[in-house]
Amino acid sequence: MKVSVIGTGYVGLVSGTCFSEIGHEVTCVDIDQEKINKLTMGEIPIYEPGLSDLVKKNVKSGKLYFTTDIKYAVTSAEIIIIAVGTPPLPSGEADLSYIFSAAKSIGENLNEYKVIVTKSTVPLGTNLKIKEIVNEASGGKYDFDIASNPEFLREGSAVYDTLNMERAVIGTETEKAALILEELHKGFNTTIIKTDVSTAELIKYAANSFLATKISFINEMAKLAEKFGADINKIAEGMGTDSRIGPHFLKAGIGYGGSCFPKDISALLATGIKNGIDLPILEAVTKVNVQQRNIIINKINEAFNGELINKRIAILGLAFKPNTDDMRESPAITVINELKKANADIIAYDPIAIPNACKIIPDLNASTNIDDVLNGADGVVIITDWKEIKEIDLDKMKTLLKNPIVIDGRNVFDPKQMEKMGFYYDSIGRPKITTII
Ligand code: NAD
Repeated sequence: MKVSVIGTGYVGLVSGTCFSEIGHEVTCVDIDQEKINKLTMGEIPIYEPGLSDLVKKNVKSGKLYFTTDIKYAVTSAEIIIIAVGTPPLPSGEADLSYIFSAAKSIGENLNEYKVIVTKSTVPLGTNLKIKEIVNEASGGKYDFDIASNPEFLREGSAVYDTLNMERAVIGTETEKAALILEELHKGFNTTIIKTDVSTAELIKYAANSFLATKISFINEMAKLAEKFGADINKIAEGMGTDSRIGPHFLKAGIGYGGSCFPKDISALLATGIKNGIDLPILEAVTKVNVQQRNIIINKINEAFNGELINKRIAILGLAFKPNTDDMRESPAITVINELKKANADIIAYDPIAIPNACKIIPDLNASTNIDDVLNGADGVVIITDWKEIKEIDLDKMKTLLKNPIVIDGRNVFDPKQMEKMGFYYDSIGRPKITTII
């Protein structure tokens, strides 16, 4: 099938590439000329395991093509997928300007029947607005269908998630469009959930909100665990082995970040407010998540008796989670900004995300060499549980550090081992070790 994907970011690039991998002819279009130039030269603008090889392979076989030519993208495809960003506005609502601008471009270039699919995460009712805009911009000359096909991939395993998708949600107004989209997904050999457009739009928000709720829930339990000397990791294990609960998203820590959970929950809360619907669970989920950042900042202050001036603090991990270079809403931003306010001397490690971090945190002193970052530091703060951080040589770390103080926002190490090794070690929802040997 001939498919065009509008927006070549984390979602558009990965899903476009994977659609080409299962045999479709895919055009990826973006307004960012520099991004398209890079992709055309075989350079991948984001870090995503396995993506580079897949892009090169499918470009070579002629199944994947990158362009800024929206007219070509629209006229040449039978299915057009919108995958542009929907960032948060200061009000918390989703900024739909990129979506509506893409819809207008589609309408202006419409030349025959097409299915116009929204993969971006958009609030309830957005697809109907897209329909209006396309209709207006095309002068109502051509028949088309709209569809909601939300994306569930996880950054860091996006290629795997797409090629092995657990389900495809297809929300349409007509059976014709549903059949076309079912055909599009055939090569993924996945479960198809066919529904109406509004239901599909809400499935995405409900799924993300539920996952964020699990994280905030375990973080709330962590506060109790810490108070009573219990271990939140064991509590999560004890809960998660119950098949009704499941083990995923029950990791206590510094809280969720990234480009999806924070903005999707704000957008859903904004939808609630606009429609006079109270959503107290989601309000609490957000509140707990903000608190988790503060809990870590308080733990850092406690470790240094509130004297952070000129203290050299090694920040381990900048990305909002491992295996991605995405810095959007990363807890590292809040922690570093607070430490800077306290005049601490920050040095950060991350294997991949430093270029993106430098765009957000001015004058960031950072290195991809973990030993250089630890050398002579007064203490360590763990923000991202990268494999390289989890597998750190603790003996070596102790010799490199000026003071063996570790504040762990991801519960990476075992408190008992840290105690034996003589570290000051404070994590989330587990006993705190304060005796330095
Ligand atoms: P992104 O910011 O990485 O990419 C968006 C791309 O769209 C950019 O390259 C931008 O230049 C391009 N763009 C904007 N307006 C355009 C236009 N009119 N024509 C062509 N290109 C245009 O965003 P993303 O992370 O890929 O997210 C896209 C959507 O998918 C969002 O709604 C997001 O919530 C949703 N989503 C994201 C993830 C994720 O993990 N990133 C997962 C599931 C769903």
